[in-house]
Amino acid sequence: MAFESLSERLNKAIKNISGQGKLTEKNMNDMLREVRMSLLEADVNYGVVKDFIERVKEKALGQEVLDSLNPSQMVVKIVHDELQELLGQSDAKLHLKPNGLSTIMMVGLQGTGKTTASAKIARFAKQKLKKRVLLVACDVVRPAAIEQLQTLGKQIDVEVFSLGAQTSAIETARKALQYANEHQKDLVIFDTAGRLHIDEELMDELKEMKEIVHPDDILLTVDAMTGQDIVTVAKEFNEQLQITGLVVTKMDGDARGGGLLSVRTITDVPVMFVSNGEKVEDLEEFHPDRMADRILG
Ligand code: GDP
Repeated sequence: MAFESLSERLNKAIKNISGQGKLTEKNMNDMLREVRMSLLEADVNYGVVKDFIERVKEKALGQEVLDSLNPSQMVVKIVHDELQELLGQSDAKLHLKPNGLSTIMMVGLQGTGKTTASAKIARFAKQKLKKRVLLVACDVVRPAAIEQLQTLGKQIDVEVFSLGAQTSAIETARKALQYANEHQKDLVIFDTAGRLHIDEELMDELKEMKEIVHPDDILLTVDAMTGQDIVTVAKEFNEQLQITGLVVTKMDGDARGGGLLSVRTITDVPVMFVSNGEKVEDLEEFHPDRMADRILG
């Protein structure tokens, strides 16, 4: 499970300091060194770790902490607060319109779990937000994607719109919007084509689709197992498409979590959902406060 090792190491570092009666600059520095190592080992971006440690240090060595009745507890709180700052201060929500037709574009590299996440979010929107959802198969590049979306659609009882692999993604998107309007849908989720690498052709198609769809949200799926690559991919997609949120997938694997911890600070794109399994129900809304609690358990 992601963060297991980070959590263990951080807690050990903190316990060390709480076990000692008096807080000195020396034991504080020892603790900070441990915290720094555990974040780097979890594959958190180097610059992010450096800033994190500096902020904790500045606050923790403040007179207010040293003079307080329970300095070690205050230090734990400082680490917790800074961790939460990395993850985001508040929950990032979908930007759907309260009335009328909303649209979401799902984008991401092939294999990151985009098609699966499209269905999971459709299920979430249907059950939790009471939306009448239409899923649209615009991944006409990967041969099995249309069928995969149709199978998932059946599982969650959400209609899937497709014009087959012979029709372009752009044409499919246009027709799907028309269909959604005619059939009183209030949310359309477009599963778009991925590529193995970011390339111009992919971005051009997505930009063109964005012009047509006017998405309320553009969600990027990133694979937790790729560590710091999340940041590189998110940066590139964000520059080109101005994405509104991330879906971090495969959090059930043994990802170290560093990508998730670095991404918001570096790209300023919030994590909205995490996916932790292959089944349609394996999706959670992302709550930064709960994640910080979980890491510091
Ligand atoms: P796409 O190419 O981005 O559309 O990726 P898919 O949705 O087809 O997913 C690629 C593979 O990853 C499939 O075998 C999925 O079942 C699997 N997958 C997707 N999300 C998760 C997840 O959160 N955890 C795990 N373990 N597998 C996932």
